[in-house]
Amino acid sequence: MKPIVGVMPLWDEYKDSIWMLPGYFDGISQAGGIPLMFPFSDDEQELDQLMGLCDGILLTGGHDVSPELYGETPMEGLVVTCPKRDSMESAVLRKAVERDMPVLGICRGLQFINVFFGGSLYQDIPTQLPSETEHHQAAPYDRPSHEVTVVEGSPLHRCLGRDSLYVNSCHHQGIKELAPGLETMAFAPDGLAEAVCMPGKRFLWAVQWHPEFSYRTDENSRAVFRDFVDSML
Ligand code: MN
Repeated sequence: MKPIVGVMPLWDEYKDSIWMLPGYFDGISQAGGIPLMFPFSDDEQELDQLMGLCDGILLTGGHDVSPELYGETPMEGLVVTCPKRDSMESAVLRKAVERDMPVLGICRGLQFINVFFGGSLYQDIPTQLPSETEHHQAAPYDRPSHEVTVVEGSPLHRCLGRDSLYVNSCHHQGIKELAPGLETMAFAPDGLAEAVCMPGKRFLWAVQWHPEFSYRTDENSRAVFRDFVDSML
């Protein structure tokens, strides 16, 4: 039996529609899991039932996390949120933590996990943390954009067996204050946290980069998906 991974849907506000990037599904599949996209729901009973079918949860990329959730006012014109996703993912993450289900966060997923556990975000990195590091690269998105340093002794260091790697980067927000309980596993040249985990959990990891774009060409991206799916076996 292959592990089933519940995947959070992406939101298209123009079409008022949910959608999925194939890379999230393919990344899970090539690692030996079965991806299952959730409907847009914050109904507690429906989510309980759905999560009963799943062995792990993938928090995908997408809209900005609502700054209200970390006690800030949105910077005008720079922040685009999806409150419906915030409320759904709050319920899903709470249930996943209660059940100690493996969770992987990607991009917004990393930011959401940090906010959920009480951390805060840069609402707009170019405005609030300007540097030479290119966090918002142009297409193609599987191209390495900046280096990250991997923290020695971290689970990511054990997974990849290396002190640094190049990652793609397509985000304009990032972790400002790290939430209590989370630890940084990798950071960018400007100091921004690029991978975090929660020690003591079965598997609660998040990366700021996009393995769903790079897994085809990048062994390090495949290794992250593989460790995630293997944690469910
Ligand atoms: Mn980055």
